Amino acid sequence: MLYFGHDGAPRFSSDRRECAPDSLALMTEPTLPHRSAHDVARVIRDLDDADVRIVIGTFVDNSGVFRAKQVPVAKTGSFHSPGLGAAPSWAVFAADDLLVLTPAFSVVGDMRLRADLDAIRNLGGGVAWAPIELADQQGTSLEHCARGVLRRQQAAIEAEGIEALAAFEIEFTCFDPVTGLVGEGPAYGLGPLLDRSEFLDDVHQSFAFAGLKIEQLHAEYGLGQIELTTEPAAPLQAADNYVLARVVLGRVARAHGMKLSFSPQPVLNGIGNGAHLHISFARSGEPLFSGGSGPHALTDEGGAVIGGLVKWLPESMGVLAPSLLSSTRLQPGHWSGAFACWGLENREAALRLCEATPGNPRGANLEIKCVDHSANPYSAVALILGLSRRSLEQEVELPDEVPTDPGMMDDDERASRNIIAIGGGQANSVDALRSSQVVRDVLGDVLVDAMVAVRGHEVEIAKSKSLEELVEKFRFAWSA
Ligand code: GLU
Ligand code: MG
Repeated sequence: MLYFGHDGAPRFSSDRRECAPDSLALMTEPTLPHRSAHDVARVIRDLDDADVRIVIGTFVDNSGVFRAKQVPVAKTGSFHSPGLGAAPSWAVFAADDLLVLTPAFSVVGDMRLRADLDAIRNLGGGVAWAPIELADQQGTSLEHCARGVLRRQQAAIEAEGIEALAAFEIEFTCFDPVTGLVGEGPAYGLGPLLDRSEFLDDVHQSFAFAGLKIEQLHAEYGLGQIELTTEPAAPLQAADNYVLARVVLGRVARAHGMKLSFSPQPVLNGIGNGAHLHISFARSGEPLFSGGSGPHALTDEGGAVIGGLVKWLPESMGVLAPSLLSSTRLQPGHWSGAFACWGLENREAALRLCEATPGNPRGANLEIKCVDHSANPYSAVALILGLSRRSLEQEVELPDEVPTDPGMMDDDERASRNIIAIGGGQANSVDALRSSQVVRDVLGDVLVDAMVAVRGHEVEIAKSKSLEELVEKFRFAWSA
């Protein structure tokens, strides 16, 4: 669990000029700037001075898989601008590596993978990492680039006077690549931490080296399962931090002869891996989730945001928990947030409110528990920002709080309280995504259509396989 609020100075996105404050529609600005030759030379000099030899850029595709390219340091400039070439079909890569070609994403065409040099980090061992943004050959941002969409949604909410902070909780399961065995318990135990002390020591050191501050790390409930959290940051940076964390974990695991699964369902009948997303907002420095006159000191605006998220969660699952193993995790009794509702410290609600109390020095925030690692983190955070903007625009009413475990209610009681189960299967979530106007408004049709194509393919895969086969086949699909 993670607590945070607005006691620090959040980082604003670099360009706030082109925002249309009163519209949810996607803007075309700001985009990833093209740095001058002088700036690029300075970055290369710094990398050289730090003995970096290779720059790896990662692109998270619409199946949540990490794709990558790398260059020797001398080529960092062309990785940044115009970027390295890739087929548009990268947008429709599926988790089994099939290209789900569509008229928009076919064998014809080209796009540029542009490394963001403002976000570059030295990982040690001669390697640096940077996130990738997509552009066309003219250097113009592509509308289906999830990171670009997040950049613009952040700029838009900031232009409306609201600062956001976000952070992901990262759960993963450790495997021995030879025996396949996962570790032993006890849950939240000291034993698993001591058993893996060399690996975990390296995790702490490597995170610190990469500039990622770990807030806490513990052995989770599942066998071999670990969770860590990093400190909150402005939305784009939070999504980058999450990707960077998974890249670092992938490197450290290899150095220790381990494999890490980020699958929502890493073992059959075992405990799922979540990627709970914490978010908070402040207007002119005043938090939206505390200091108000609503329940648990929510402000009217904070209540509207929660109301909108409860309302639109069911049609957002194709973005937030989108894969063919997501629904298996999203079941009652797993603390994965299997119901679209909210409640103070309610670990079975998809939206768990963490109040500002003396025990929560970082301030009030909302934990969106249903998110898992098969989501594209840029799309997921962009969607939450866009839905929050629309909630504020529409002044959505805060529904009644659910103060008890919704999984213990019978169907009639849930129906009477309007509590919707969101783990109803991937086919349902893809259908709901396809026809969701609000999600299309936030993410854009091209991106949503690519997601629908990729996830629709997963629905087909699942038809011919048992759950056991799916768990095996996709165990490491989302591992860096
Ligand atoms: N492993 C649970 C999940 O799948 C989360 C447990 C927790 O509350 O941290 O989301
Ligand atoms: Mg956890």
